[in-house]
Amino acid sequence: MYLVKSPLLLKWYYPSLTWNKSRSEKVIYLTFDDGPIPDVTTFVLKTLKSFDAKATFFCIGDNIVKHPDVFEQIKKDGHQIGNHTFNHLKGWKTEDKTYLNNFKACQKLTQTHLFRPPYGRIKKSQISEIKSAYPEMQIVMWDVITGDFDLNLSPEECYRNAIKHTTSGSIVVFHDSLKAFDRLEYALPRFLQYFTDKGFSFLTL
Ligand SMILES: [Zn+2]
Repeated sequence: MYLVKSPLLLKWYYPSLTWNKSRSEKVIYLTFDDGPIPDVTTFVLKTLKSFDAKATFFCIGDNIVKHPDVFEQIKKDGHQIGNHTFNHLKGWKTEDKTYLNNFKACQKLTQTHLFRPPYGRIKKSQISEIKSAYPEMQIVMWDVITGDFDLNLSPEECYRNAIKHTTSGSIVVFHDSLKAFDRLEYALPRFLQYFTDKGFSFLTL
């Protein structure tokens, strides 16, 4: 269950998290979760390059260990890396100590100031633990989730959702995962084309 547009109530409940960036500039912040995955991440990198777009990749530690060359390629292309835990843990169902240790295991590999909790689900106690261990850490949510992981969504619906809800300063979630690929492959180049034509640029967080 998810909403394409993040509800205001959630933003109000978690004010210390980042939900979107400045609404006054024509910039979109694309984010890709759950990689790096061979072929899928590589497709994303190639597509971004052809639009001269930069993005942020919230990587799973376990995938970095499995696919170090793809991970290096993301950095080499000038994109930003974010922490997405080592094993894609669901915060609401995980003990705080386990959660923090899993976060740290991924942090060793990512060395970043950006964290996105898997599923967007994190307890307030886990937020405080992370913030006290890493005061510079920015916890990044989103204001648009494309639903590319949703097998019931057609590629065209995924694309339509994404362009309908995105605006200046939006943080948009795609997934560089095998599950999302059918929709990602269709929606991403069209999304980039649509907003490039409207004069937007795409930057890292
Ligand atoms: Zn994820």
